[in-house]
Amino acid sequence: MVVLDPGHNGRNGAEPGAIRRQVSDGRGGMKACNTTGTATDAGYPEHAFNFDVATRVQQRLTAAGVQVVLTRPDDDGVGPCVDERGRAGEEADAAAVVSIHADGAAPGAAGFHVAYSAPPLNPAQAGPAQELARVLRDALRDGGFPDSDYIGDDALSPRADLAGLNHATRPTVLVECANMRNADEAALVSSPEGRDRYAAAITDGVLGFLGRKG
Ligand SMILES: [Zn+2]
Repeated sequence: MVVLDPGHNGRNGAEPGAIRRQVSDGRGGMKACNTTGTATDAGYPEHAFNFDVATRVQQRLTAAGVQVVLTRPDDDGVGPCVDERGRAGEEADAAAVVSIHADGAAPGAAGFHVAYSAPPLNPAQAGPAQELARVLRDALRDGGFPDSDYIGDDALSPRADLAGLNHATRPTVLVECANMRNADEAALVSSPEGRDRYAAAITDGVLGFLGRKG
């Protein structure tokens, strides 16, 4: 079983009260339930990108015989909150959890990166999540995507502030596929062909991780 977590949701922007509700950040603090995410300069929203890529990964994994659960059923709702997303892997007893996002950085910045919880809060976050991050990073590189030139080292980013990762008790990572504010990457994420390339690479990474665990 694999959990795919498409970041944000289509109606988050319309329900600011709901998404500003404070929830546990998984490290003793609180943070907002969820956020709206970013968008390209032309207005293609991150939540739509995330959901489309997740759906494509789901189709590919299902075809490969892997069961998949999504943390949200469509792109027309609100939430779920980050703490609930973070617990989804345990609820599904998932072998891997991938949260799918795209970033909104300075226009000159580019590339993908994979975030994992650090310092780790449990055994799954210590070894397996970091292995999943490396395998997924390698698959995205193999898919022709460049390492981030603005965050992390070698496209890997240890993070203490991402509640969805902090709450995880199964191997969980968050992929920032591209910088939506970069013109070249905006064109890529806005095209179905580009999204299919991301989905193919993420699928390869997940299957590689499951195989290594095999
Ligand atoms: Zn995001």
